[in-house]
Amino acid sequence: MSDFSNKVAIVTGSARGIGKTIALRLAEAGATVVVNDLSAAVNAVADEIKALNRQSLAVQGDVSSSADVNRMVETVKNTFGKIDILVNNAGIARDQLVVRMSDEEWESVLNVDLKSVFFCTRAVLRHMIRQRSGRIINIASIVGIVGNPGQANYSSAKAGIIGFTKTVAKEVASRQITVNAVAPGFIDTEMTQRLAEEWKQELQKRIPLGYLGSPRDVAEAVAFLASDEARYITGQVLSVDGGMAGAWM
Ligand code: NAP
Repeated sequence: MSDFSNKVAIVTGSARGIGKTIALRLAEAGATVVVNDLSAAVNAVADEIKALNRQSLAVQGDVSSSADVNRMVETVKNTFGKIDILVNNAGIARDQLVVRMSDEEWESVLNVDLKSVFFCTRAVLRHMIRQRSGRIINIASIVGIVGNPGQANYSSAKAGIIGFTKTVAKEVASRQITVNAVAPGFIDTEMTQRLAEEWKQELQKRIPLGYLGSPRDVAEAVAFLASDEARYITGQVLSVDGGMAGAWM
């Protein structure tokens, strides 16, 4: 396991699910972890991290608000003096066929899943550029690569994250900052527990490895991309999907 002692990480949307697992994984490896979420449940995650004898700070806030994001990043800088790792994980889904999709369903998903990535990245880069180091990992999705009926809003946001990742990677490479995306397939969290049982069984048949991934599977990929060992990898999309995106469907 790579050592993240002396590293300061921010993980958005980390009160539960994949974000919480990423936060705990980085903390287990020594990182100081700032946990963020809309809900106050994020305080309990900070307590779990402190119980591992690591530093942690819970910042409640909405990542689709630039004011909330700028306040969070300033607080982190003032508290810990630096920001080494940003994991843009917060996300929502509001599934609907495109002909029935409301303006609100489109806008809320684009705001929380894509605009937030721009706000958080812009805010941390102001510090990472001065530091001349940094790791940004954006959580995209398999549906941003292959599409999925009922998820025009979500797949557009996730495909947007992939384009954003590749562009920003080129903009900041000269400062030794890497920017990569992780594209999970179907991972067992509250987001997928909401899917109809028969659809879940159908999906499982399309996963070459034959089972849904765990949040830990995603966290391990994030930890690798955040590590010193991944210093020469930037602008990439790492699929963590049991072989699904590459499978003949
Ligand atoms: P989840 O269990 O629904 O957790 C998402 C977290 O993000 C929640 O704690 C939620 O907080 C938080 N959040 C939502 N809107 C926010 C906002 N505006 N500001 C701050 N935090 C906010 O989802 P998950 O399955 O862990 O997914 C995590 C990421 O992985 C998402 O980007 C998702 O799109 C991506 N992903 C998931 C899967 C999967 O199969 N699960 C597959 C591919 C990609 P509240 O509880 O307060 O709403």
